[in-house]
Amino acid sequence: EDVLARIDEVEGDVKAYLTITRDEALAQAKAVDEKIAKGEKISFLEGIPGAIKDNICTKGVKTTCASKILENFVPPYDATVMTKLKAENPVILGKLNMDEFAMGGSTENSAYHPTCNPWNTECVPGGSSGGSAASVAAGTAIWSLGSDTGGSIRQPASFCGVVGLKPTYGRVSRYGLVAYGSSLDQIGPVTRDVTDCANILNIIAGHDDMDSTSSVAEVPDFTKALVEDVKGLKIGLPKEYFVKGMDPEVEKAIRMAIEKYKEMGAEIVDITLPHTDYAISAYYLIAPAEAATNLQRYDGVSYGERVEGEDLVAMMTNTRTEKFGEEVKRRIVIGNYALSAGYYDAYYLKAMKVRTLVAEDYAKAFEQVDVILAPVAPTTAFKIGEMAGDPLQMYLQDACTVPLNLAGLPGISIPCGMSSKGMPIGMQLIGKALDEETIIRAAYTYE
Ligand code: GLN
Repeated sequence: EDVLARIDEVEGDVKAYLTITRDEALAQAKAVDEKIAKGEKISFLEGIPGAIKDNICTKGVKTTCASKILENFVPPYDATVMTKLKAENPVILGKLNMDEFAMGGSTENSAYHPTCNPWNTECVPGGSSGGSAASVAAGTAIWSLGSDTGGSIRQPASFCGVVGLKPTYGRVSRYGLVAYGSSLDQIGPVTRDVTDCANILNIIAGHDDMDSTSSVAEVPDFTKALVEDVKGLKIGLPKEYFVKGMDPEVEKAIRMAIEKYKEMGAEIVDITLPHTDYAISAYYLIAPAEAATNLQRYDGVSYGERVEGEDLVAMMTNTRTEKFGEEVKRRIVIGNYALSAGYYDAYYLKAMKVRTLVAEDYAKAFEQVDVILAPVAPTTAFKIGEMAGDPLQMYLQDACTVPLNLAGLPGISIPCGMSSKGMPIGMQLIGKALDEETIIRAAYTYE
């Protein structure tokens, strides 16, 4: 009731939600209340209200991906993360706004409305999981799930002053996550602190037969990593991540965090990730190529909305022309171009080679260090509309977040300061594959 009251109070300004399942939420909460009254034991997440990014399939609850093409899509099944969550009996408040099909970094690409940053409603909350971060920051959800293909959990967490973790590729099942870039996508938690983050990761992680890329590696108890100890921990600082055009206040906050780690006994090591510069170009070929392929299914027949036409081709053309937003169409065009005969070798294949080089950079660096510390984004949250009409400028925002998706590595974004204008600054800790524990420990110690 408290959280729903908070929604009534601020949701009109923040607009983090696309669907609020108020009655179901109250019924779930009541059931937990009754359990408590009977003296029954409850689990960590039981009764705790959270919300879900709208590209994660929720049985019986609309899942739109913030797109008009899925305006009325009600999944007949739950994503694996939902099945796992529901076993813990949390309260699910509803579905959260995002950039259409998770393409963007500001939530302005939602076909419905932008979400506003709770710290300053003139600013974006980041994206694409803008609703996931804004709801946790505004107190309209206690925890949430987001998805991260190239930074979509970490960058909004950074812009909204909350914690966001992108797990190792394969750590969390993608079954029921509407596909954007299938070789990059991961679901992860957005929370107020690192403790909540570890607890939610415990629930959603693990092998799933329904996802052929799901890792079979054993899942540790991530709460065991909640220890304050970075003595002797080797933290790498990649010089390439302190990019040109970076806001000096962001850089200062990161440098202060480094000093704090030194004081706490960590060893700071300068490292180089020489192919970082090429990561954005590779990402913006690979992600659109996969997106173009994945989005072929929205043809007016199998899924979602249909706009009639005089024949089959006209119907499909009308449907896709009318129901996809500008950014989604841009990426379909880029992706199909990069994959087309005659261009494949020059673009897609080349990008895949760069992807390997980026992954090798990390592998080499991790021979020397335990974690890598870097900024999340070059700036704090920018004004709504400031980058509209400048997609290239928007893509450059992802310089520090996309490289680790290319390599499949885990990364966590945690708050590390405030700008003079009162906007949160985040920092990123990047880990070895399947070593979320070390970044959780480093984040917890800092926090
Ligand atoms: N901003 C990046 C993009 O637009 C990342 C999005 C994401 O991680 N889903 O593709």
